[in-house]
Amino acid sequence: MNVQENVIQIKERIEKACERVNRNPKDVKIIAVTKYVSVETAQLALEAGIKDLGENRDQGLIDKYEVIGNEATWHFIGSLQSRKVKDIIDKVAYIHSLDRKSLAKEINKRATQKVKCFVQVNTSGEQSKHGLQPDDTISFIESLAELPNIEVIGLMTMAPFVEDENVLRDTFKHLKELQNIIIHKRLPFAPCTELSMGMSNDFEIAVEEGATYIRIGTALVGKEY
Ligand SMILES: *Cc1c(COP(=O)(O)O)cnc(C)c1O
Repeated sequence: MNVQENVIQIKERIEKACERVNRNPKDVKIIAVTKYVSVETAQLALEAGIKDLGENRDQGLIDKYEVIGNEATWHFIGSLQSRKVKDIIDKVAYIHSLDRKSLAKEINKRATQKVKCFVQVNTSGEQSKHGLQPDDTISFIESLAELPNIEVIGLMTMAPFVEDENVLRDTFKHLKELQNIIIHKRLPFAPCTELSMGMSNDFEIAVEEGATYIRIGTALVGKEY
């Protein structure tokens, strides 16, 4: 696995996707998802210039943080149990999986400063996926007004595991539509300028549909376990 080479190729693909829809590639940030690889491989991503790392389990994040520390900007991207919040809160810069009020309250309580959160929405309709139902998303975000340490910087979704490009595209479009509604509400605690969407198999479509953070594991650092 040549991480450096992968980064170059992924950046080229992002640039081409941006060209197709007239976006600036600088507006798309790459998160290297390191959940399937060793800390040594995660460090190769840093050496290749990717400073944003994503983990989906608290223990995975804690283990890698012990070695890498604040050389990386850490993103928590997996479903988060409330009782684990205290273990990761001082290590992560972003939480991509805010999907319930109890979790928001716990983050608010444990945080020592504002935490940048993405509200996770299930725009694919798949039962197995985490995240709020689209219809519940706006009222959920409005209910966060009372929690001063929560800043909703954007929305996050996971596309279904399908080949059909139209299904993927619709999933991402739906997230963008929700984002527009929230932006128009001008909630001071929810600027909602960011969209976290797109993974190894679908990131070009996500970029075409407005992703500002893409979360790439396999195509960037590979899969060791
Ligand atoms: C694993 C994971 C990714 C990356 O998946 P790849 O298909 O390996 O790129 C992105 N987002 C979340 C939430 C994940 O759990």
